Amino acid sequence: MAQYNLLLLPGDGIGPEVMGQVERIIAWLNKQGGNTFTTETDLVGGCAYDAHGQAISDATIDKALAADAVILGAVGGPKWDGIGYDVRPEAGLLRLRKDLQLFANLRPAVCFDALADASSLKRELVEGLDIMIVRELTGGVYFGEPRGITDLGNGQRRGVNTQVYDTFEIERVARVAFDLARKRGNRVTSVEKRNVMESGLLWNEDVTALHSRDYSDVTLDHMLADNCGMQLVRTPKQFDVLVTDNLFGDMLSDVAAMLTGSLGMLPSASLGEADRDGKRKALYEPVHGSAPDIAGQGLANPIATILSFGMALRYSFDMGAQADMIDQAIENVLTSGKRTADIMQDGMTAVSTTEMGDAILSELDALTS
Ligand code: NAD
Repeated sequence: MAQYNLLLLPGDGIGPEVMGQVERIIAWLNKQGGNTFTTETDLVGGCAYDAHGQAISDATIDKALAADAVILGAVGGPKWDGIGYDVRPEAGLLRLRKDLQLFANLRPAVCFDALADASSLKRELVEGLDIMIVRELTGGVYFGEPRGITDLGNGQRRGVNTQVYDTFEIERVARVAFDLARKRGNRVTSVEKRNVMESGLLWNEDVTALHSRDYSDVTLDHMLADNCGMQLVRTPKQFDVLVTDNLFGDMLSDVAAMLTGSLGMLPSASLGEADRDGKRKALYEPVHGSAPDIAGQGLANPIATILSFGMALRYSFDMGAQADMIDQAIENVLTSGKRTADIMQDGMTAVSTTEMGDAILSELDALTS
């Protein structure tokens, strides 16, 4: 049996409330007689700025680099809106992504049956939905040079951003997608705009070459990004794993997220390069922010953060069976009608953050008894 070290960064707003429920799940797992986890908790975001004038300290970055995985709550809030960009709460998150070189962002869009009616699409289109979007996270137009706004001197200004990808960046994120597909439905859809962008043409050619070299057992399709946006809201269940660049991934993952209902249900993972032992640096966090409007009131839905920990079990610790059990416990709780305010529906029972944690733990007990 292995022992793993987790760095917990609850952050601001509802972050500590939702992380508290993850800690209870970790304690439960530690009693099950399998792999165990030690945890250390530290500061990121506004609370880190308050403590030492930076959104994340060097010492915390060192702990993140040494940990087997990092689990983050959320950062930010109106209290820190006026401070400089380099020390804002979000800067802590960006530094973590950069220093851990987390180039692949995994956003699952899974529709729990009990919540199928909360989607903006018809139940039959989203029931059973299970898509994985793999977004390239450290390259492309958000980082490419040249960039900036220049004054043209004639009353006009020019804004420039550069979309740029090298083969190694395309291949490493595509590998993540192909490897994931092999453990799921064995299908990858690669998304770009090769019809109008050279970087899209390179993306398409590099993914195709990698596929025929190393992944010919996986079914590969290519789709233009604009068509993909349309297909996601038309027949989302046609997809298994989608892989795309930073910009298109940013938009398409938000579109896919809304198919499944609430922000409080959406987990994510960001992965780095695999080392010689196949181990990757990894950060797991809910998609939602710090929700200052409900912070401290026991209203936050902890499921997105619990599902993010479930992704850590699956992708960092090869504990898929335990992750499946957590998914099943959540499905059972939702089917029983217990709901936090964000996913409340007529006839259901309103529960607090802690009561949702209680209910999931009871289901886990029931599933293992
Ligand atoms: P938000 O995600 O915090 O909240 C949007 C809405 O969804 C709010 O009404 C909120 O109450 C609700 N909500 C979010 N998570 C919920 C949960 N778990 N349970 C129940 N309801 C939930 O986005 P925002 O309001 O635009 O941003 C608030 C702060 O969070 C800002 O400072 C923003 O910069 C920051 N933010 C941080 C992250 C991050 O840490 N990764 C992501 C997005 C926004």
